[in-house]
Amino acid sequence: MKLNKIDHIGIAVNNLDEVKSIYETVFEIEPLFVETVEDQKVKTLGYDINGTNIEFLESTDSESPVQRFIDKRGNAVHHIALQVDDLDTKLDALKQKGVRLIDEEPRIGAEGKRIAFIHPKSTGGILIELSETKIHE
Ligand code: ZN
Repeated sequence: MKLNKIDHIGIAVNNLDEVKSIYETVFEIEPLFVETVEDQKVKTLGYDINGTNIEFLESTDSESPVQRFIDKRGNAVHHIALQVDDLDTKLDALKQKGVRLIDEEPRIGAEGKRIAFIHPKSTGGILIELSETKIHE
């Protein structure tokens, strides 16, 4: 399966404002986007590091999966997103191999990208997201 590159690294944190001020001070960079993804009950803060994003996630709901993750582990890497072309075909190929998917169908993530999560049981305990290459802005 052709994987284009690491699209982004998703990091779950308690406080996005804190991260923003740290990145301003330490790296002197400004966010690419700040966006709420209702579907995943998170607010996201993204930085573009020369084509690969770092995406911080703060939960907007005390019962969300991201909040449960933070409660257990504190601020930590939550998932790695791999960029692919033609997400539908990639998902079909994974299904045929019996790979467990969290998202059988693509959904819309930050920046309006089509994404799907693979179940960590099928990827050695690490949550992997597939993110479709954006064809147009
Ligand atoms: Zn992500």
